[in-house]
Amino acid sequence: MDQIKAKLLEEREKVREELARIEEALQERGEYGLGKGDPAVYQWEFNLALREQFKEHLQEIEEALQRMEEGTYGICEECGKPIEIERLEVLPFTSLCIACAKRRQ
Ligand SMILES: [Zn+2]
Repeated sequence: MDQIKAKLLEEREKVREELARIEEALQERGEYGLGKGDPAVYQWEFNLALREQFKEHLQEIEEALQRMEEGTYGICEECGKPIEIERLEVLPFTSLCIACAKRRQ
């Protein structure tokens, strides 16, 4: 479990760095003359979408760490069964077991 926690903390650090980088890129918007079809606009919109994705991911990681604190980590939030350890090793932030994740798709 310590290993998984270390992984989560590492992942959180990475996501935070990515977010900071994206925020910085978004700040540069004013430097472009924003015209429709401008590649810079696409890039900016892409970064905006990316920022949302990373924010969601950060949220998932925070929640996983929270569950670790509470001692409910590794329990599927859908069926209440333990999540497969192989799955947690690959997706330490997941809150669903394989069967429930498949059902949700
Ligand atoms: Zn489940």
